[in-house]
Amino acid sequence: MRKNIVAGNWKMNNDLAQTEALLLGLKKHAIPENVSVMVAPAFTNLYQAFETVRETPIEVIAQNMHQAKNGAFTGEVSAPMLKSVGVNTVIIGHSERRAYFHETNALLAEKVTAAIENDMQVIFCFGEELSDRKQGEHFEVVKAQLQQGLFHIDENQFKNIVLAYEPVWAIGTGETASPEQAQEIHNYVRKLVATTYSDAVSENVSILYGGSVKPANAKEIFANADVDGGLIGGAALKAEDFMAIVNAF
Ligand code: PEP
Repeated sequence: MRKNIVAGNWKMNNDLAQTEALLLGLKKHAIPENVSVMVAPAFTNLYQAFETVRETPIEVIAQNMHQAKNGAFTGEVSAPMLKSVGVNTVIIGHSERRAYFHETNALLAEKVTAAIENDMQVIFCFGEELSDRKQGEHFEVVKAQLQQGLFHIDENQFKNIVLAYEPVWAIGTGETASPEQAQEIHNYVRKLVATTYSDAVSENVSILYGGSVKPANAKEIFANADVDGGLIGGAALKAEDFMAIVNAF
């Protein structure tokens, strides 16, 4: 059974004290039983965050990781390091990683493999740019990202995957895909997973939408049959807004 998930991607925001304050704000709210709630603070704050929400259903996840276990990779953090501070889920392929850090589909495929080998859950992000959509190429772009970055794993490993469709033109721009646009791609992706793997895999995988989700639009986005939640950027930085989104199912 696929899960409803709301995950907050805090990006490079919040120092240790701010992380603590935001988590304490979230802890004041009851978490509905039908939603898995995740937050992704910066690497430096993961351990403290894990300790702060230890007794709650909130899961602390990472925004990125390196594909190697260890070694001479200055400035990087590996899957075993994340696991050692209680992190079992990692976001891979966020469009900011693709754009600003030149992460290719081939590199992302290596990261996915490394995460799975370390028994981690992966939130795999993909999505087209505005120019792709204007040229009517959004389906092909999304398909290529999934085929080249993710579909090398086998059917059994797919239970560790959460998909996150994030049209680049909607991230941090205030512009949201319409509920119809989101459903159209989510349904396309679910069918692609079915033809690549099986109906069972496609029925069980959660597909999140990301791109300027706010309390005001979350309900109509989450109401779509193939939308199982959201990856939230800006609105995840305010406890009230984030919890309003969590409660939008
Ligand atoms: C994101 O960065 O994953 C995101 C969806 O950001 P925002 O909600 O701010 O558009």
